[in-house]
Amino acid sequence: MANAIHEERRKQKQKDLKRKKKAARRRLILALVLLAAFVCFIFGIVKLFSSDVFHDEEEFITFADEKFETDAVCPESDVDDREYHFNEDGTSYAIKRGNWVDGDTKSYIDKKIDSILKKENSSMALLIDAGAYEAPNGAVSTVVHFSTYNADGRHMKIESAKADTKLFDGETGKGADSLQVMNVNYKTKAQDYAEEYFSKTYSDKDLKDDWERFVTSDDTNFNKFVITEDQIAFFFDQDTVLIPEDGTPAVSIPQTIIGSTIRPEILERYVDKSKPMVALTFDDGPYSKTEMKILDTLEENGGVATFFYLGNRVKNDYKSAKRAVKLGCELGNHSWSHPVMSQLDNKEIASQINKTNAVIYKYCGVEPVVARPPYGEYNDKVLKRTGMAQILWSLDTMDWKTRDAEKSFKAVKKAKNLDGKIILMHSIYKESAEATELIVPWLKDNGYQLVTVSELIKYKTGKPPQAGKVYKKVN
Ligand code: ZN
Repeated sequence: MANAIHEERRKQKQKDLKRKKKAARRRLILALVLLAAFVCFIFGIVKLFSSDVFHDEEEFITFADEKFETDAVCPESDVDDREYHFNEDGTSYAIKRGNWVDGDTKSYIDKKIDSILKKENSSMALLIDAGAYEAPNGAVSTVVHFSTYNADGRHMKIESAKADTKLFDGETGKGADSLQVMNVNYKTKAQDYAEEYFSKTYSDKDLKDDWERFVTSDDTNFNKFVITEDQIAFFFDQDTVLIPEDGTPAVSIPQTIIGSTIRPEILERYVDKSKPMVALTFDDGPYSKTEMKILDTLEENGGVATFFYLGNRVKNDYKSAKRAVKLGCELGNHSWSHPVMSQLDNKEIASQINKTNAVIYKYCGVEPVVARPPYGEYNDKVLKRTGMAQILWSLDTMDWKTRDAEKSFKAVKKAKNLDGKIILMHSIYKESAEATELIVPWLKDNGYQLVTVSELIKYKTGKPPQAGKVYKKVN
């Protein structure tokens, strides 16, 4: 009996102990929750009263340095000199200097900074970030970026931001047009990359409703950029792709993706958009024996042409092709073995095109962006499968048939207006090379600029050649 009572008490004690432990645990959790709430509260209070508006030089330097890091727009460079000018009257400014190379680019940037300091000195903080970069082909590009900030309550708010860029020929110091430095298709590559970059990097809150129209490859976009050794950085105006509070939208595209659109050498010639232009095209090469003569004529007259090559000829004869690229001529795709493309199946079409592009890139260093179907034969399947613009012609000299230089020349002369026209010739006949000696000076004397097919399309339509589109003439 006594044993039973003892057992009962022991059980009761155990129960009490368990209950106490439970209660203690509950109290501990409550205390932790309260502590966490308190910490959050204090943190909130501190945040509420903290401010990023600066009151002395040290605070301004901290502010400027932080912005230079977080809002960095210019690509990194070897040099990073910073100067700070704190003014009690609330017009402080800081300048971050990257590489300025020398001579013409340096004095250009100096002038640019002076004019910004004169125009934009009324804000509480003006930050200028400038640099110059050398491209693989010897071009030098500069960027001068500025942003202004003013206090909005206890916080600094961005007001304006702008990037100015300019290209130079590194050797002569002369200013250069983007198409003297880049191939016409650079905007197409940039568009694909930029669309993906902005949509993946920014939320809908930052992206403007119609942001995509600022990253299309037409005339108005992708005109501000710098080319460094390993990337191209593109800048957009404030309040275009992103909301104004995000400053200057920018995207850097690695050279591994966009590098093939940088010309191996800077073009010396400059195209005047407002003047007549014509594109001479030569099919069925490469064939150095006659093409060298054609290139002599083009070089003497400061003109260029487009050569549509057969892939299966490139490996054995690419001397003239390389020279053509050097002179600023364009290389196009004329299939691998000259079949009637519309009679091929999808796989064969892709193979004819891809193999040819690859061999031209391998031996000549440029990737064709235009194709000409043999015999001008194409159908919807060809347009879709090649993924390239198809170039026909608006004037056939019949050089392949007459094999007579004078007759080919006459065919050109009798055309009334050649502005925007694409002239068809063949580079594998000596009579065609002789005809070129007559045609090129005549075109020049009659006020025509000789441009490549891609340039003709770009200057006349405002857009580079579009994949899947057929061009016969462009005006
Ligand atoms: Zn052909």
